Amino acid sequence: MTGSFTGLRSSLTGDVLAPSEPEYERARVCFNLLIDRRPAAIARCADTDDVATALAFAQQHDLEIAVRGGGHNPAGHCVVDDGLVIDLSRMRNVEVDPESRIAISGGGATWTDLDAATQAHDLVTPGGVVGSTGVSGLTLGGGIGHLTAQHGLTCDNLIAAELVTLPGEVVRANRDEAPELLWGLRGGGGNFGVATRLKFRLHPLERVIGGRLEYAGGGVRGALHAFRYVDAGAGKDLSCQAQLRVDEGLTPELTIAPCYTGSDEEPKEFRVLRSAPGLVSDGVRSQGFLDQQRVFDDGYGVYRHYWKNHFVGDLSDELLDTLLERMAALGRPPGAILIESLRGAPKEVDPASAAVGYRGAAFNVSVMATWIDPALDDEQIAWARETAAAIEPWSVSGGYANYMQADEPLDRVRAAFGPDSFDRLRALKTRYDPRNILHRNQNIPPI
Ligand SMILES: Cc1cc2nc3c(=O)[nH]c(=O)nc-3n(C[C@H](O)[C@H](O)[C@H](O)COP(=O)(O)OP(=O)(O)OC[C@H]3O[C@@H](n4cnc5c(N)ncnc54)[C@H](O)[C@@H]3O)c2cc1C
Repeated sequence: MTGSFTGLRSSLTGDVLAPSEPEYERARVCFNLLIDRRPAAIARCADTDDVATALAFAQQHDLEIAVRGGGHNPAGHCVVDDGLVIDLSRMRNVEVDPESRIAISGGGATWTDLDAATQAHDLVTPGGVVGSTGVSGLTLGGGIGHLTAQHGLTCDNLIAAELVTLPGEVVRANRDEAPELLWGLRGGGGNFGVATRLKFRLHPLERVIGGRLEYAGGGVRGALHAFRYVDAGAGKDLSCQAQLRVDEGLTPELTIAPCYTGSDEEPKEFRVLRSAPGLVSDGVRSQGFLDQQRVFDDGYGVYRHYWKNHFVGDLSDELLDTLLERMAALGRPPGAILIESLRGAPKEVDPASAAVGYRGAAFNVSVMATWIDPALDDEQIAWARETAAAIEPWSVSGGYANYMQADEPLDRVRAAFGPDSFDRLRALKTRYDPRNILHRNQNIPPI
């Protein structure tokens, strides 16, 4: 095989990393250190032709394929033992046309790349909240972030894509060419080919009022109720997320991260949040969107993670109490439960425009076990599973493809789209990948 990789290397503009090469060790690391796989090689593609060449090579040599964008998927789909990783990290170019308010993002761009390029023109598209996350991976799974209420899911702002399919064909998906494929890419993940360019609609944005409000102690329950109250009544110019944790002494902690894009005046909702019980730190201020995008920044390849989520119809008192009890049961930091609101613009988008099936939910509640010591694997995974089971009675949909581990049953993937959309996605999969070669993803099996 070494000889063959020499052949692949010479036919790529990019490079190929074999296990003996110094950069290989760093290039195989996922955000989630629970994943520790050793691919036969990593093809760092530099352009669309490279992607087609690498796809052909893997199929000729019967190598399992993993596609790597930002490396963030908690399931570790971006790396595979003994297979070929198609690594897009050299394809991070972003073009912005400020006149038509369009951005075209390379298949391996991160949110830091895209936000920096669009914000240079006071424009933005709604993305994820951590800069090193891949734009493609996040968009293809939906996309929830600081501007969801204002502008919808990330995939709602995806207006076209260039995809290399398994036979090496370059397909354009937009309203006129392959519209069914564009529909499927809005939530259906990396099932149909490798996206080399994604085209986004942009929106004007100069500044936001945002940051973090921190709460601790017995007041956290009241602060959670304030978060629920504010989210229920807020306009579309305020997005809000909340993250529940415990400190070393098992005292509950809560971060509320609002992002307001209305007038220069602070909205009345901020008074409610600031007067909620347990406030210990107020980091909310007027700031540029690039600073807002650092509110949750997280170290890459530092922790082991195991995540499970449920979309819920509301945050009842009983559910909030359950979340507080489950955080206490974790018994140690730094795991968390993240609550992301889906209020506002996602509800105004024609549901038939995208494959995602959860836009009717009020919140995404995600259990995020996070730890360092491998000896805690069983304990932490059990906590995440038991906590997700405790939330399940309030669940209104399947899992969120972007946060799912690889062990989720097919029923949860199906429920994430609904039966009709799932059948449509299976038909698309059969058309573009009938042998299920791209199966390292939240897999949609061909018919
Ligand atoms: C710290 C952190 C913060 C996050 N924040 C958010 C958030 O705010 N909002 C949110 O919605 N999600 C968020 N996520 C989840 C994230 O969107 C998903 O895990 C997503 O899959 C990551 O994409 P990636 O390219 O970084 O991952 P990778 O692991 O590189 O890729 C995951 C999978 O996506 C597919 N894929 C990636 N790129 C391509 C491509 N160009 N063509 C075809 N398929 C491709 C492949 O199937 C690949 O295996 C976060 C995850 C982490 C770890």
